[in-house]
Amino acid sequence: MYAETGSQWNVAELEDAAHRHLISPAEEMSKLGTSGGRPLFTSADGIYIRDSHGRTLIDGPGGMWCTQVGYNSQPIADAIAAQALRICYNSPWYSINGPASELARRIAAFAPGDLDHVFFTTGGSSAVDSALRFMQFYNNVLGRPDKKAIICRIDGYHGSTHLTAACSGRAGNRPNFDLALDNVSFISAPNVFRRPRGMSEEAFLDMLVAEFEERVETLGPENVGAFLAEPLLASGGILIPPKGYHRRILEICRRHDILYISDEVVTGFGRCGHWFASEEVFDIVPDIITFAKGVTSGYVPLGGFVISDAVLARVSGENARGSFYTNGYTYSGHPVSCAAALANIDIIEEKGLLAHVREIAPYFQEEIRKLGELPLIGDARGTGLVACVECVTDPDAEEATDFDKEVALRVDRYCYEGGLIVRPIGSMCVLSPALIITREQIDDMMAILRGSIVRVQDELKAEGRW
Ligand code: PMP
Repeated sequence: MYAETGSQWNVAELEDAAHRHLISPAEEMSKLGTSGGRPLFTSADGIYIRDSHGRTLIDGPGGMWCTQVGYNSQPIADAIAAQALRICYNSPWYSINGPASELARRIAAFAPGDLDHVFFTTGGSSAVDSALRFMQFYNNVLGRPDKKAIICRIDGYHGSTHLTAACSGRAGNRPNFDLALDNVSFISAPNVFRRPRGMSEEAFLDMLVAEFEERVETLGPENVGAFLAEPLLASGGILIPPKGYHRRILEICRRHDILYISDEVVTGFGRCGHWFASEEVFDIVPDIITFAKGVTSGYVPLGGFVISDAVLARVSGENARGSFYTNGYTYSGHPVSCAAALANIDIIEEKGLLAHVREIAPYFQEEIRKLGELPLIGDARGTGLVACVECVTDPDAEEATDFDKEVALRVDRYCYEGGLIVRPIGSMCVLSPALIITREQIDDMMAILRGSIVRVQDELKAEGRW
């Protein structure tokens, strides 16, 4: 009997069940079956989460960059229930449903340029995977079977399918798996903070663009199918490329007929104050934009990509050359997920959340940068409603050290004790709160984070470790 109903939680039983039977996506295998130390979250409202000990916490990472309109939204819950009762499922292989059709229309309306056709998947990994498979389909139909290489970045993250994992350049995600690397090529991350010592940001940008151009030449433009990039590297540590980076790379892509795939799984749906960040924040209209997460504010799984008419026209209609596109899922365009997304978009519009983010983000960024003045923080950065502080114990080290990472985990622990969830990624603590966050709530978040950093600084000094 499921013990979660009512106000009484049988916490011990649920924790025991998790330890015995649940495998998480990030599992230290030596600890499987013991206490993994993961909190059990029981309910949530707005930007707040409650854990099984009755503690109320500010959800700093917004779930995982996804709870745009906040928890406990009645209109989204109603839309899910109504659609589940109306028609919970239809096969996308031989039928269409109302919510998917309407959602495609809405997304096409606010996607940049001529990005007008939407393909739905079940999340971010499947969205990127499908975009890459589209690139393969496209070049096969165009009679260019060799034009398949994907150029992506070290420290990028694009998902957990066979192909998207191969395209994810974060070292921590890679050990002990076999990766489909034959057509994948990595270039440097646009990590401004860790750029070569003494190099100006302009020179760094030139270096990054030159590296891309050289890689295209080395591989041969006739062999390069796509450049795959997050507008800002999120899981890789909130890396915001120098101004002009995407634009200059896009120009090279255009010259060589390489598809530019902008992975907006994190930046889409308002995180940077716009439906998508590619055009308004980073000044490009890519060929394909992938999305997930914020499209439903995390209420139900959904993802997809939106693609330009110009690209699609080359392999459809009279240019189809008899080709048949077959890629997709039982749950592509799931009606309940699409109904949730429509309700979510309505809320973002009715509450003016894009404008709210544009208004409040400068304050959020200003406050996070103030934390950058603390001695333990080497860099504090971000844009829109996404930011991080990076712990640096040794300013001479070129890379984050194991000690930096240990320190970030300690900051994370004290934040939790103080009532704030942050996401520790390596030496960083990351924030990407729900878009509904207020100035006062930002103040609360920053006060807890500051207090935790100061506490760690004091402890490290007392321990003689820093
Ligand atoms: N792309 C990016 C940029 C992401 O951050 C993520 C997930 N964090 C994904 C793709 C994969 O999405 P999902 O976990 O929904 O499969």
